[in-house]
Amino acid sequence: MTANPDPNAHVICVTIDVDAYSPVLFDGGGDAAALSQGEFDVRIGVPRLVDLLAAYDVMGTFFVPGHTAACFPEAVGLISGAGHEIGHHGYLHEPPARLTRQEEEASLDRGLESLARHGIRPEGYRAPLWEPSAHTLELLEARGFAYDSSMMATDFIPYRPRVGDVIDEHGATFGRHAALVELPASWIFDDWSYFANVWRAGGGGPAPPSHVLEIWTEMIAYAADSVPGAAVVITLHPQVSAQGYVLRLLTRLFTQLRAAGAEFVTMREAARRAAERLPAAAAPAEI
Ligand SMILES: [Zn+2]
Repeated sequence: MTANPDPNAHVICVTIDVDAYSPVLFDGGGDAAALSQGEFDVRIGVPRLVDLLAAYDVMGTFFVPGHTAACFPEAVGLISGAGHEIGHHGYLHEPPARLTRQEEEASLDRGLESLARHGIRPEGYRAPLWEPSAHTLELLEARGFAYDSSMMATDFIPYRPRVGDVIDEHGATFGRHAALVELPASWIFDDWSYFANVWRAGGGGPAPPSHVLEIWTEMIAYAADSVPGAAVVITLHPQVSAQGYVLRLLTRLFTQLRAAGAEFVTMREAARRAAERLPAAAAPAEI
């Protein structure tokens, strides 16, 4: 962590969603091959990605569903033992937009309880499938979360999202600005968009890694040159990004970024810096 970081400098956040069995179970379970692919996440993928981050002295942020933490305590130990941040990613990878408010609260609290058994109190949340509900931000605020990374109103620009919007076919009534910070998510920086070959769960891969390297390099160059205070959030899934050809792409990307002097920080650190720059929650904002 830099003592007095330049508030206009861009940062890179490497985030890793360790979904393991949870999405398969939420979808009804029963597919043994799908469950075993989830196991690749923790037994093969997490160690490879932890090693990659160590090679580049990068502190990452791992979003871990409560069910994953319950099944694979050794993976949680490996991640937190290496100094990485752990964030909340539901209990059974439940997309909040498909839940009632009560079900969403139960999922949040069950996820918190599971992580607490490992001594972890997450500061950040990412909605599974990036499908937050109209209630999500309010429920996160009530539980003291410092940031969310599920919304997409900007590309790299951290902002204070709104709570209490009413948007329907009649128009839009905008609510207040949240106290927490949004570090926006992006499908463009999601490995699943390019490399996932899990046909039951979408994904268009495998794609040529050189194409993705070009897209990501150009996007990061734009953020660095044109967006003061940008936080570039890269989202990886171990069962996708721990495959050899993606690991080699990430090696090239991290080498380039390190050579260019890029700063890698955890989501927690990016949120802290953004909170200092952004207007207070009650102030009007452009977003
Ligand atoms: Zn996920």
